[in-house]
Amino acid sequence: MPKFLHSVKLEQDKCLGCTNCIKRCPTEAIRVRDGKATIISERCIDCGECIRICPHKAKRASYDKFEIINDYKYKIALPAPALFGQFDNLDDIDLVLTGLIEIGFDSVFEVSRAAEIISEVTRRFFAERHKDGRRPGEHPIISTACPAVVRLISVRFPYLSDYLLPILAPVELAARIARAEAKKKHPELSDEDIGVFFITPCPAKVSYIREPIGVDSTAITGALPITDIYLRLISVMPHIKKSLPLSRSGVIGISWATTGGEAAALLHEKYLAADGIENVIRVLDEIENENFSGLDFIELNACSGGCVGGALTMENPYIAKARLQQLRKFLPFSQNTIEVDGEGEEHIEWSRQIEENRAMRFSDDKKTAIEMRVKMNNIAKSLPGLDCGSCGAPSCRALAEDIVRGEAYETDCIFRMKEKIQEIFRSIADIEHINLDK
Ligand code: SF4
Ligand code: SF4
Repeated sequence: MPKFLHSVKLEQDKCLGCTNCIKRCPTEAIRVRDGKATIISERCIDCGECIRICPHKAKRASYDKFEIINDYKYKIALPAPALFGQFDNLDDIDLVLTGLIEIGFDSVFEVSRAAEIISEVTRRFFAERHKDGRRPGEHPIISTACPAVVRLISVRFPYLSDYLLPILAPVELAARIARAEAKKKHPELSDEDIGVFFITPCPAKVSYIREPIGVDSTAITGALPITDIYLRLISVMPHIKKSLPLSRSGVIGISWATTGGEAAALLHEKYLAADGIENVIRVLDEIENENFSGLDFIELNACSGGCVGGALTMENPYIAKARLQQLRKFLPFSQNTIEVDGEGEEHIEWSRQIEENRAMRFSDDKKTAIEMRVKMNNIAKSLPGLDCGSCGAPSCRALAEDIVRGEAYETDCIFRMKEKIQEIFRSIADIEHINLDK
């Protein structure tokens, strides 16, 4: 399995082995061994849950340093729509976009613009799909805008891979259009001269740039966190006398920042939108069990509230959402269509399907996998079933899995350890008793 360049990192010297994080990880990717957490790299989907929960700040997201933009002759900022929800009383997106120019970018391209194009392409995708009427047994399509959800599916729900919407994420399309526009405007620039930087709300999108989904390579150069850019912007925005007329986003694009925005943009009522990793898992379980009939589209966001709830944002997601609702009052419905892109729909589709992540499989050999699973189930039954986490695994079943994989011992369970010690004492006592009787 290829090594994945994760954006979520563990600083082991800060870890106190408290086990708070192990139960929150949706892919059971964390273990505490010898008093320190470790992340099973192949399983981590960079959702950022462990960053939020760690009380000792031992987990952090890695991203680019702002100064990296200076390595490029022409610097483009791609602000996520969640950025606009960070500012109090903002009634003009142009103020934020002008601020981005003030802090050093040469141009800006709002990701919400590309989101409006993706919404249109998705509407056409559904119109095409249902051209001859809905077919019996037709499954719903799952959004692919949240990379943590797509990776979660590849790790825990590989059978749902065929349900994924095979269309570019808005940030990828934004980067492609912004690059093309820059080259048109400045023909003297080469691709290497242009730096395209996503202002990201979450670590999962940093990982997307390092390991793109659905495409072989990305047009994005790097990722800068909203937390960093926000602090730079608030120092320049109060001094902007007149903002530049840069924004070309509408309600449709800005709404993608919060849960339900992408689904509502389909102008279609047969959808479900859920957020928060635990709810996402519940919905995926239900889809796998075919409990959702009659739905066309499922929008899933790993973070509560949607992208406004990302681990790299400043503001409470519900406050950010309320601010975006206010801001939408000043915007037109939509300002971007596929014609703006001019490249045609085929360039907006995935060029590569996602592969199953085999990290949770026991073996590619079916017989071996079944044997190991039976063994795991038997060991799990013999454990106390308290899921206390004191063994360093998130549940008794996870410890049983680790034992079968040869990565843990039954005596890692403190209850089993206690039983073993009692057995040893009993044996010693028996021996002494025999000796005493002699
Ligand atoms: S939450 Fe996890 S990473 Fe943080 S201190 Fe506890 S065990 Fe270590
Ligand atoms: S980022 Fe998410 S998947 Fe990765 S270790 Fe943390 S909680 Fe688990």
